[in-house]
Amino acid sequence: MNDLRDSNFIKANNARYGWHPMAHPGDMQANPPRIVTAAEGVEVIDIDGHRLLDAVGGLWNVSLGHSAPAVKQAMIDQIERLAFYNTFRGTTHDRVIELSVALREFFAPEGMERAFYTSGGSDSIDTALRLARQYQRIKGQPERTRFFSLKYGYHGTHFGGASINGSNKFRRQYEPMLPGCHHLPAPYPYRNEFGTDDPAAIAQGIAARFEADIAFYGADTIAAFVMEPVLGSGGVIVPHETLMPMMRDICTRNGILLIADEVICAFGRTGSESGSRLWGVQPDMMATAKALTNGFFPLGATLVNGTIAEAFETASGADGTISHGYTNSGHPVGAAAALVTLEEVQKQGVVANAKARGEQLLAALERLKEKHDIVGDVRGKGLMAALELVSDRAAKTPLGKGAVQAMFDAAYEDGVMLRTSGNNIIISPCLVIERADIDRLEAGLDTGLKAAA
Ligand code: PLP
Repeated sequence: MNDLRDSNFIKANNARYGWHPMAHPGDMQANPPRIVTAAEGVEVIDIDGHRLLDAVGGLWNVSLGHSAPAVKQAMIDQIERLAFYNTFRGTTHDRVIELSVALREFFAPEGMERAFYTSGGSDSIDTALRLARQYQRIKGQPERTRFFSLKYGYHGTHFGGASINGSNKFRRQYEPMLPGCHHLPAPYPYRNEFGTDDPAAIAQGIAARFEADIAFYGADTIAAFVMEPVLGSGGVIVPHETLMPMMRDICTRNGILLIADEVICAFGRTGSESGSRLWGVQPDMMATAKALTNGFFPLGATLVNGTIAEAFETASGADGTISHGYTNSGHPVGAAAALVTLEEVQKQGVVANAKARGEQLLAALERLKEKHDIVGDVRGKGLMAALELVSDRAAKTPLGKGAVQAMFDAAYEDGVMLRTSGNNIIISPCLVIERADIDRLEAGLDTGLKAAA
């Protein structure tokens, strides 16, 4: 941090010439973002030298913590030996071969057989959508083109993923999006259209809606259903345990592929190796990214099961050729980072830690709800959680932007880096977080909630 060439120069140019994702450029210039210049363990360090507990975990992705020496070393070694080579038809490299074996082993319970590499989550989802359509064509059903997904789901920002996103805000400025994308209600007990807060009844309602839509449009027009096992960016919405198994069953009966968007859930976040495993489901495809490399390299993997693998591998000519890919598909530095990350996740017992610390976190959030009227709802699974803030509990009126910002600022001053999304505080710390860190997080949230009230 002290090797910054000139912190005044950095501050003066903050948000001036670089635009930020999911932000209004004018707002960003008026309220410049906090500048992080270093990180260590589960903490980040800002430009003024303040240390903060990182309750964001990078952006759901830094699971092993910001230091992760084994991952860094593997990346350095890889850069020295082979910093880049492509994996397009004709060439490959050793790391990507090893990683494909490792991923197949890691996701054996989910039945994943093959990996297609991407540069991140949006790529992984769009790859899954394209492979789903191609698979249906290989099976002689080219008219199966529709996609179904859940409201409040988030599937990235490419045209395909944004078309199936469950919030209109990702689409409306960019219309027309992909046609034939349909959105089922979210498994969201706090706000839903089913007139109940019973998660099991809501799951039944969603499944019934899916069946009705399949009957209406015809199963033979639907390629795939996409869902996050636990909905992340939409506000950490945890479905009832029956939802994903029911959707699996409906998909199977109707020849519809089930694509699990595991970009957040995979590699331990939910307290299981994957969100699909958490709910005891074998999807047809899994989209992964983020914690695959501990967030240290932009790499994703779209994984497919044996049935899909065989269909492609035995299809003739152009039918089975994957006319899709990225320069960075299987980047050697990303593959090296991923290999070590997978090893460390297992060696360090990260998944069990996420489960145990997640239970502690949820109990802390429930205490905060007891204490602060502006906490309308508390949700979480493993180390992904949210506080939904309201100005009126009975009316569930979302808390205003100014108060949410006041909470962020007060927690920041107290040494806790939060992330806000609308009226939600999203919590996704590194998965190696310890008991005392959760206490510190609770204290920071408490300070923030007092400031926001
Ligand atoms: N899918 C899910 C569930 C995500 O949470 C995200 C990003 O947050 C994406 C897809 C898109 O990933 P990326 O931002 O790496 O493109």
